[in-house]
Amino acid sequence: MSFATTVIIGSGVTGLSSAYHLARKHFGKIILLDKGLVGDGSSSRAAGIITGLLWSKAGVLARKISLALFRDLSQELEGYQFHAVGCLNLFDPSSWPEREGLLPLYRECGAPFEVLTAAEMHRRWPAIRPRPAYVGLHDSLGGYSEPDEYIPALARKNREMGVDIRESQKVIDLVVCDGQVRGVRTEMGFLEADVVVCTVHSWTVKLLEGLHLRLPQKTFVHQRYITCPLAAPAAIPAINANPLGGYVRPAHGNRFLFGIESVDRAEYRVNSTDFDMSELNAPLELRDRIRERFMPFIPALEDAQWEGEKVGLISFSMDFDPIVGPVKQFPGLYVASAFHSGGFAYNPVMGLLLAELIVDGKTSVDISEWSPERSDPRAVDDYLGSSITQAQVARRRH
Ligand SMILES: Cc1cc2nc3c(=O)[nH]c(=O)nc-3n(C[C@H](O)[C@H](O)[C@H](O)COP(=O)(O)OP(=O)(O)OC[C@H]3O[C@@H](n4cnc5c(N)ncnc54)[C@H](O)[C@@H]3O)c2cc1C
Repeated sequence: MSFATTVIIGSGVTGLSSAYHLARKHFGKIILLDKGLVGDGSSSRAAGIITGLLWSKAGVLARKISLALFRDLSQELEGYQFHAVGCLNLFDPSSWPEREGLLPLYRECGAPFEVLTAAEMHRRWPAIRPRPAYVGLHDSLGGYSEPDEYIPALARKNREMGVDIRESQKVIDLVVCDGQVRGVRTEMGFLEADVVVCTVHSWTVKLLEGLHLRLPQKTFVHQRYITCPLAAPAAIPAINANPLGGYVRPAHGNRFLFGIESVDRAEYRVNSTDFDMSELNAPLELRDRIRERFMPFIPALEDAQWEGEKVGLISFSMDFDPIVGPVKQFPGLYVASAFHSGGFAYNPVMGLLLAELIVDGKTSVDISEWSPERSDPRAVDDYLGSSITQAQVARRRH
């Protein structure tokens, strides 16, 4: 297949990473299409936090690879550096037992972790004041990436490796002939391809409608806020503060970046392939909610002013695990989507796994449980026909 043509739809981090790994495998001609600019979707809006301590074997093994790749990419990509500050996952007494049950899995997979008391957390990071009953699950390999550094650096590397990145080229339809995917129809015309990879995230359900391919995915508005610079550096790890309903990490120039969930909000339906994320709004009252919830935990927040916010969409499948792999019904088509709020963290390994599937036909981690065709079609119809709030999906942060 050294003369194969692959069209990747969507140049968020998943599409960029897929192109990068296919190019590393010298897999013919690679064309990456985006209806807007590179990173225009949720990728440029992400907080970029990663932890390796997930809830399934496939997830933990995949994240181990992502964590290693973020470090490798820091060496390889000019202008990008992974911030290896660790990731602290916080729990209260009611949420801890469920997570505690996953510790044997982390040991089995060789994912390092430490369980910390509130006093130990405060001793290590004096800027935080966890409640005495909180339990900390520390992932020493975790950390974060700045999307504004990572995305342009990865796009540049792709171009250097010969990937043809075409912006402002919307895919209108996928073209199938004799049951096989043959390419895509864009606003510029037909583009022939041997392989089509669909990495359009929030637009997935709408774009694949044309093939009558129904994937059980729901999207929700999500927002993150950044403070103005503080007098002292934000000397904390990335923190998934589950009992506080949000997360916080250090950001460039002595800033904090906060994210907060809005569980009462209804799903957001992307009803048109023309949908643009700039149509979304971040409610200002959520800033007050962050201050109210986080100030006892991070007293330095009292002096902080808000500098800005970003708002995008996060997506969940019916069983809350990613949807990744070949679509057997349409040979030549691959899909990767529904990464809960962890698509940035997954992206290096997702690109690798997709490239392995396409080039080698097998993956270094068994991801068969993430197959796009794993769900009963009637259950998928019911799910897509229903309307839910974010409270009805699992809390799966980063
Ligand atoms: C506020 C916020 C904070 C987040 N924080 C984190 C975090 O800390 N850690 C983490 O791991 N994840 C986080 N996420 C989730 C993460 O951003 C996403 O999971 C991830 O960016 C998905 O990347 P993607 O490349 O799959 O999709 P996207 O970045 O959404 O890219 C999809 C692309 O497809 C293009 N496209 C759509 N339709 C078409 C078409 N018809 N033709 C051509 N192109 C098309 C779009 O223009 C877009 O560029 C966060 C999300 C939000 C909103």
